[in-house]
Amino acid sequence: LSLSPLITDLVSALQALPGVGPKGAQRMALHLLQRNREGGATLADSLSKACEQVGYCDSCRTLSETRQCGICADSRRDATLVCVVESPADILAIEAAGGFSGHYFVLHGHLSPIDGVGPKELGLPELEQTLRSRTVDELILATNPTVEGEATAHYISQLAGGIVGAISRIAHGVPVGGELEYVDGGTIVHALAGRRTLDS
Ligand SMILES: [Zn+2]
Repeated sequence: LSLSPLITDLVSALQALPGVGPKGAQRMALHLLQRNREGGATLADSLSKACEQVGYCDSCRTLSETRQCGICADSRRDATLVCVVESPADILAIEAAGGFSGHYFVLHGHLSPIDGVGPKELGLPELEQTLRSRTVDELILATNPTVEGEATAHYISQLAGGIVGAISRIAHGVPVGGELEYVDGGTIVHALAGRRTLDS
């Protein structure tokens, strides 16, 4: 079976999705073209708008199409409590678990010198500026419990020591090597509740 150039392009573009290989992409492309062109057009439109308009929150660096994300703009949230996470998916997981009403800061990764990811790439100068510009009673380090996540948490604790009231690290209810976004809500609630204060 040889596909026409436009279908071939579509199949190859669909493989940008995580977990989608050539076969899956082919099935999706044929499905949309045979059975759901309207859905395909809506998908194309949403995708194109999102890629064009979604940027980053000026305050916490999470994905947002407004300068301030919904959480940072919400005056009912406690701005004196800041939780540092590796990715926007971690925010979704913590929010879904419930019980946390502070602000976040998104690193978009962890320290990884081999890959050229240093403090600057993680927005740590901006984090420091944020912490200096307002009163933060507690900075919670919720990076993943991996070697890189621990190293990143350690680095940030050094950076923030003396600037914020207290620094804490989430408890190890999260399995080692596990990523926060894949952990169930109950575990996240316990990890946050059982966080321990670091000496700084
Ligand atoms: Zn924000």
